[in-house]
Amino acid sequence: MAFSRAGPQVEKTGLIGVVSVAFWPPYFAKPKGFELSYSAVMDEIKGGAVIVIDGATGTELQRRGAPMHSGAWCAAATQSHPEVLHEIHADYIRCGARVVTANTFATTREVLEPNGLGGRFEALNRQAVEIAVAARDTTPSDKPVLVAGSISHTRPSGGSSGHAWSPESGDIEKFEADCTEMVAIHKAAGADLILGEMLGCPDFTPCVIRAAQANDMPLWLGISTMAGADGTLRCYTNDAQPLGDVLESIVAVGGADVIGIMHSKPGVTLAALEILKQHWHGPLMAYPDSLTGDDEPVDAITFDHVIGDEAFVDYCDQWQDAGVQVLGGCCGLTVSHIAALTRHLSDVAAHA
Ligand SMILES: [Zn+2]
Repeated sequence: MAFSRAGPQVEKTGLIGVVSVAFWPPYFAKPKGFELSYSAVMDEIKGGAVIVIDGATGTELQRRGAPMHSGAWCAAATQSHPEVLHEIHADYIRCGARVVTANTFATTREVLEPNGLGGRFEALNRQAVEIAVAARDTTPSDKPVLVAGSISHTRPSGGSSGHAWSPESGDIEKFEADCTEMVAIHKAAGADLILGEMLGCPDFTPCVIRAAQANDMPLWLGISTMAGADGTLRCYTNDAQPLGDVLESIVAVGGADVIGIMHSKPGVTLAALEILKQHWHGPLMAYPDSLTGDDEPVDAITFDHVIGDEAFVDYCDQWQDAGVQVLGGCCGLTVSHIAALTRHLSDVAAHA
């Protein structure tokens, strides 16, 4: 449901709210309970603005030295390296990111339980969002910054069953119940929206959508794709599924305010966006990954082939020309990339 959270405080509290908002330092050190305006950010997007979101969270933890788990990847880094995680979010905000993504991509029960971390499900989800909220609330920004809770049906580490899920390899009803509980934790901890990431499975993606709806949380959907053997774009986790079919079925479920292509190679993202535009006419998002390949062990990523800042900005220009309004980075892309993008957009605006 669009704009379902509380609107700007000024609408709710009358004159006192107007005064407190008007004189509060710009989105800095907000008191607990201050409702950042998700609807205000969506109004910016609907008005034609381009919003820059953050870059990688998981691989950035890894790049900064947090140990990774071979199965649960970056999940436990929230508890082992909370200061590093806080600083990653703060760094992204300082260079202009308007959305920071909590470290919850790998904290579904479906990732934690097989890796001996099921008992930490509530704590890892709550603390990851709390750290993002704390970073947001203590880092100066001249515009509102939103905290997104990340949820995916894709396993960060393939293992014996691979990244892919299928109705045969996973319990759809359990996954939806687990996602619903996860969204509730994110909401209680202060998340402003749910960011569905590396989605695309026609069976499991609707579980994430319904989990957000059940909690009355705004939802942005990130779909991943890769080129199949014949060169056509396929579902990331199931190369038997053409991307167009996947997008058509997911868009038909409804429930998202923004849909985009993410954790897909920069070189295929534009073509994927064009397919998405055949089915989705709302705000578009793009934030690619830039790692060497999908066979690299998740706990031993090398970062040797991450694209440079300039190349990333050039791709973002292409995607913006195609209508994308939410731009950022996924695995491998860093604060440097996001800073280069925000500088570029500022330069373009200054010379417009
Ligand atoms: Zn990624």
